[in-house]
Amino acid sequence: MASVADHAARIAQLLPRTAVERRALSEARGLALAHDVVARVTLPPFDNSSMDGFAVAAADIGALPVELVVSQDIPAGVDPQPLQPGTAARIMTGAPVPPGADSIVPVEQTSGRGTDGSVVGTTVRLHSVSSAGQFIRRRGSDVTEGDVVLPAGTVLTAAPIGLLAAIGVADVQVHRPLSVLVLSTGSELVAPGEPLRPGQIYESNGPMLAAALAETGAVATLAHFVADDVPAFLDALGTAVAGAANPIDLIVTSGGVSAGAFEVVKQALADRGVSFTRVAMQPGMPQGSGRITLDTPDDSSREIPVVTLPGNPVSSFVSFEVFLRPAIRAAQGFSAAAQHRPKAALPLAEPLTSVPGKAQFRRATRAAGTVRAHGGASSHLLAALAHSDSLIEIPADVTDLPAGAEVTVWDLSGT
Ligand code: AMP
Ligand code: MG
Repeated sequence: MASVADHAARIAQLLPRTAVERRALSEARGLALAHDVVARVTLPPFDNSSMDGFAVAAADIGALPVELVVSQDIPAGVDPQPLQPGTAARIMTGAPVPPGADSIVPVEQTSGRGTDGSVVGTTVRLHSVSSAGQFIRRRGSDVTEGDVVLPAGTVLTAAPIGLLAAIGVADVQVHRPLSVLVLSTGSELVAPGEPLRPGQIYESNGPMLAAALAETGAVATLAHFVADDVPAFLDALGTAVAGAANPIDLIVTSGGVSAGAFEVVKQALADRGVSFTRVAMQPGMPQGSGRITLDTPDDSSREIPVVTLPGNPVSSFVSFEVFLRPAIRAAQGFSAAAQHRPKAALPLAEPLTSVPGKAQFRRATRAAGTVRAHGGASSHLLAALAHSDSLIEIPADVTDLPAGAEVTVWDLSGT
């Protein structure tokens, strides 16, 4: 049997880095930067007020309260005049602090905001004066021109996208997402929404894997599932690959790889370049991977990586987490930290037993600094999986864990 690490390395090798392409920021969400991004501007670009209020020169203010003439109005977006000595300038949040002013008095500490129209020429009473510099956001206090603001490998979630926009970046160089075809197999499968006849079950791996792929930043194409029939399987594969909107970089199948009869994926792909192996893990022991050449009308010689996942839904899910997710994210140029689920050592809330000789991945929930396995070890327990936020990873040589024992916990709650 292969170890988890061996099989993970094999899957990682299947997937080379994707090409770099330039995308508008609005089209880059969830992808990884291909290069460091250097700021071409300084943020804030100018000293500005962090409050609605009045800009004054602190030295002009004697005993309080004091009444000053309002000499100019400074809404956000204007380039103000220097402050006339002995006066106040009405200033809005984000507006540039006028030269000569060093203090902002928030409107709450004055006689009022005045009107929406101009208040220039009227007076304002100041009840207090802030110390010099208070309520002023200094030029460069956030970003300095020339700074590497985001390193290559950064995944473009909301905050990095906000930062890129803030430094004036309209488009970015990112690694293209992997285009992945998902094909489920099983003569017992029925599409959700259709009636079930005796012996049938709803097809759940396809939608689940397509969603998991989308969460990794990949583009998933879900092919209609096929019966346990080799010609039907190969035909569906060829048709789906040829008809996909994006050229397929990876094929992921589910089912048909274990030790029974009618193992369609095994039968169809074993002598087409896919190796089938047993991995010392639970769930997810039967695995396969390789490259196949498909006779498609458009591109007859292209080799496409294939990963064959076991059919039990929890096995499929766990195999995806352990092998495919990190490999896909690495291929898409994600930083090392973003390739893997966050892991923590947490004490078990309850004792746990595992099987000898296999790494076990138990579905679990975290609470109050501990972790608790949710549902049993069986690989059909989809409801328990859906209510879990974690995986507990139990090494192959560990079989008995008392309550309080520290275990490695994968945090599944992010995308
Ligand atoms: P297999 O690996 O094809 O022998 O499937 C193992 C178990 O997983 C069987 O109980 C199948 O019915 C179930 N299974 C396989 N594929 C799917 C699927 N796409 N959706 C739901 N259950 C599945
Ligand atoms: Mg099957």
